[in-house]
Amino acid sequence: MSFVPKLRKIILKYILRKNIVSYEKYSAYGEESNIFWYRDSGDLSIAKYIPFLGAVLINKDVIEDTENIMADYVFLHEIGHKNATLIVKILTYPALFISVLLMVAIPLMYITVVFPSLLINQQTILYENILGLFVVSFLGILIYSPTRHIMEFQAEYYAIKRIGKENYLRCQEERNSESKDSIMLKLRRFLEYPSPKRIVWFYEFRN
Ligand SMILES: [Zn+2]
Repeated sequence: MSFVPKLRKIILKYILRKNIVSYEKYSAYGEESNIFWYRDSGDLSIAKYIPFLGAVLINKDVIEDTENIMADYVFLHEIGHKNATLIVKILTYPALFISVLLMVAIPLMYITVVFPSLLINQQTILYENILGLFVVSFLGILIYSPTRHIMEFQAEYYAIKRIGKENYLRCQEERNSESKDSIMLKLRRFLEYPSPKRIVWFYEFRN
């Protein structure tokens, strides 16, 4: 493993606390890339791409129980993120950066503003602050959700273009049958992912 992957592995292992088991070349449908395999049975996500690190990760614990095509599909989806077109990057990266900042700022505001107001029993200040936090959180979602939709749309289209409609639909079915989704996860999926129907429609429209 050369220097850059080694550095990535250190960040993934010690800062992002991922249980990395190997770093290997993966190829599917004419695409080839090195990926990190990790194990986490508590993590429901199958794979992820970490933008500023340029690392693709696949969760061995989740993928092991699925068909082979599923690994190819998630691999191609993450490579889709990695190879995002410049226009998608321009459209999404600044907004993504702002929403990440908000995600850090909101808990900080709770700690520095809401809890002290609770302690000194300042009801009016407290209500105003809570209202302010709701507005900020809402703005965060308002920026984050469409941004993620654009990113996920491009990644899904990248995958379906390579594996084809039949395989894509099989993977969606498998994903739904496997999923132990809680309401929170369903809500997250709704906020972040375009519906597979829309992806198929776009794919058929373009091809
Ligand atoms: Zn994605």
